[in-house]
Amino acid sequence: MTNYVFNFDSGDATQADLLGGKGANLAEMTRLGLPVPPGFTITTDACRYFLAEGAVPSELEEQVRQQVDALEKAIGRRFGDSADPLLVSVRSGAKVSMPGMMDTVLNVGLNDETVHGLAATFNDEAFAADTYRRLLTMFGQTVLGLDAALFSGPLSIARTKAGVDNDGELPASALWDLVNDYKDVIYQQTGSPFPQNPLDQLWMAIEAVFTSWNGERAKVYRKREGIPDDLGTAVNIVGMVFGNRGSDSGTGVAFTRDPSSGEPGVWGDYLANAQGEDVVAGIRNVSPLADLEHINPTAYRQLLEHMELLEQHYRDVCDIEFTIEQGKLWMLQTRIGKRTPAAAFRVAIDLVDEGLISADEALTRVSGEQLTRLMFPAFDRANAPEPIASGVAAAPGAAVGQAIFDPQRAAEKAEAGEDVILIRDETNPDDLPGMIGAVGILTARGGKTSHAAVVARGLGKTCVCGADSLEVLDDHAKGPNGSEIHEGDIVSIDGTSGEIWADAVAVTSSPVEKYFKGELGADADALTRAVDRLMTYADERSRMEVWANADTGADAALARRFGAVGIGLCRTEHMFLGDRRELVEKLILAEPEQRGGVLEQLKELQVGDFQEILEAMDELPVVIRLLDPPLHEFLPSFVDLSVENAVNPTEANAELLRTARKLHEHNPMLGLRGVRLGIVLEGLYTMQIQAVAEAAARLSERGLQPKPEIMIPLVGDHRELEIMKDKANEVLSDFNVEIPVGTMIEVPRAALTADRIAPHADFFSFGTNDLTQMTWGFSRDDVEGSFFSEYLEQGVFETSPFATLDTDGVGSLVSTAVSLGRKANSDMHIGVCGEHGGDPASIQFFNQTGLDYVSCSPYRAPVARLASGQAAVKQKD
Ligand code: ADP
Ligand code: MG
Ligand code: MG
Repeated sequence: MTNYVFNFDSGDATQADLLGGKGANLAEMTRLGLPVPPGFTITTDACRYFLAEGAVPSELEEQVRQQVDALEKAIGRRFGDSADPLLVSVRSGAKVSMPGMMDTVLNVGLNDETVHGLAATFNDEAFAADTYRRLLTMFGQTVLGLDAALFSGPLSIARTKAGVDNDGELPASALWDLVNDYKDVIYQQTGSPFPQNPLDQLWMAIEAVFTSWNGERAKVYRKREGIPDDLGTAVNIVGMVFGNRGSDSGTGVAFTRDPSSGEPGVWGDYLANAQGEDVVAGIRNVSPLADLEHINPTAYRQLLEHMELLEQHYRDVCDIEFTIEQGKLWMLQTRIGKRTPAAAFRVAIDLVDEGLISADEALTRVSGEQLTRLMFPAFDRANAPEPIASGVAAAPGAAVGQAIFDPQRAAEKAEAGEDVILIRDETNPDDLPGMIGAVGILTARGGKTSHAAVVARGLGKTCVCGADSLEVLDDHAKGPNGSEIHEGDIVSIDGTSGEIWADAVAVTSSPVEKYFKGELGADADALTRAVDRLMTYADERSRMEVWANADTGADAALARRFGAVGIGLCRTEHMFLGDRRELVEKLILAEPEQRGGVLEQLKELQVGDFQEILEAMDELPVVIRLLDPPLHEFLPSFVDLSVENAVNPTEANAELLRTARKLHEHNPMLGLRGVRLGIVLEGLYTMQIQAVAEAAARLSERGLQPKPEIMIPLVGDHRELEIMKDKANEVLSDFNVEIPVGTMIEVPRAALTADRIAPHADFFSFGTNDLTQMTWGFSRDDVEGSFFSEYLEQGVFETSPFATLDTDGVGSLVSTAVSLGRKANSDMHIGVCGEHGGDPASIQFFNQTGLDYVSCSPYRAPVARLASGQAAVKQKD
């Protein structure tokens, strides 16, 4: 026989899978000797059984009956006793706290008879009537699914009639009238009277909790948050304690530290003469928790002691619910407190200083995502108006711009240099041009994996999606409370919180970003201090270094300030654009014997470029990748050329068009590019190698210590590298510099034959973007905006393989190449320079695989440093 029911004195905090978070922590607090009312938990097993079979397991009824017996003994009252009834609350509680589940029903066990017993026992008519009208309200709304207005309407009429502002001041007679009104409402609406048998009430509530697991709201929430559908919820049955027994009673919520700043101290709300949700429902004005010190000093002192004990025990911020019944304190819930990213950093460091956790553990208490959020510019909340609506925070950032409802118009406005927020019901692949142009994207439908969300994250745009209180029409949107947004109105969206304003909200750059940039000292405030110390720990712990991808001296300098200790990818293609494009055009058109002159000119420019970046990274390695993209990218577009040639058919134009036609490729990504170009276009790579050596030589002469490395892209066969390496050696022998020459591993064939490539390479660097494209056969630019959201929806993958490395497939090529490469050359230096190098989950994998460094864009370097430290700690465990 399965045991589906556990008393609070028989479980503990480790059992959240079975008892749900709330139940497991109630058991833990009971174990710690805190004043928790007696009660028991029906397991998630029972819920899963109920959902599969449509009925509770047969043994459950008897097991619940035994627990009710035990509860009656523990409390000294009997369920349904007309003289002195036992009352209980029925509370849902899944493993992770989850809005959308059934709300708690308090005061179960009251009926037309027992309510008089309650009045007599406590000698308080108003209290008994108030307790009953609360049960009828909660039962009516949450178990029977009736409209809240059916209950709140009569209540507000009663307040007006009695001339009071607070429910707590209603006289007994008004409360009895409400009880009768509510019973009528229930009868009229459901066709059945309110169930008078307490056990019927209990079972109806229990089954309603189970059923609510598959309610629409709960399903939507789980989908958005990626919570599995098969966990099920537990049900907690708890003996009632009463905060609504006069001014020496009350209820409150408390955090052991401020969950928004992390600052230590008393933080919470208290409401006298109130029950349950009154505090959070905003029905009445609550007092700051600190006021309790004057209202009830003894209970306050006890509460602080319990909070201290819980924090020491859980070694983290605790979120607590409590009730005081006529001076006696009861603990009704605790859990690890949710907190803002700023609080997460602050608390982690404070707990280290207080000796509660080690520095290693502190590192695991913060996430790369939190650090990213701390670095984003943020809305100046102190001066912001009220948001009009909110949605899913899908891609972080603070975006302000004109509301535009059509992707084509959005693209045009953006082209004209205006900031645009694209607002759509939902997006589809045809919207891409508008999404690319927009500074932010707002949709009324779809969750974290909707098309809008996926594409926005890929593009690095701010996005709020699924703002379902907005109705999006052709050229305007209707929001709650009569608000409207018209085409051209300025709106602001916060992709970090999901809030939406029909106004321009001011944006400020974050102190953490300023700290990383060196514009603020580490000691600027508690947050920067905490970030600085955690970053220092991370750097101390990490085995893998963090390098950055940078193409200019300025970017390299920024990367260095962000803590990068090398440049893992310096792309040379941008150096061929702008006003230099004409030179490249000449190079492409030139007969082989004329190329020399053009190359000479390009070389001089490249020497300057390289000097700049090598100087910014003095003493640190800089990996320079020789030209990678297909040549046609440097020619005007085929269409433009055709038009130009038709209008103005000169010999030069015709020649250009002929060449462009010749260079045209159906799949340029798989065409003449990378090392293939180096081999075919005589002189190009040689020129670049000379430029690197020349730049290094000039800096050395000035007493600097440049450390360039040369990287050959797109190698698939060892012979390709061998040819380039010979060429490089020949060039470098003219200079007095040591420059390592290595290769990217970005073609699957290179990964699989890494042992043959290794003898010719001084280092490997994984180009995981191309490696992902070629392993999956995806062209990133084509697939991300078209069918990726569908793939995520259907569970082909959980995150885009371009965002987080596909460890099963692409990752297996990476580990193969590492072990083959190191077999051939045991101290081969190996890194990664694809954007995966800045993704915490991928970094974890690279650390396990034994890479020496990851390289990512400068702004992601801090997150990568943190993730590298975390990965080292995790590997040690
Ligand atoms: P939620 O998960 O929404 O916080 P809870 O189950 O914690 O719901 O309960 C809602 C409110 O009712 C909370 O304020 C809680 O403290 C209070 N409550 C729950 N059970 C009892 C009880 N047995 N006695 C008094 N108050 C209770
Ligand atoms: Mg609660
Ligand atoms: Mg590449």
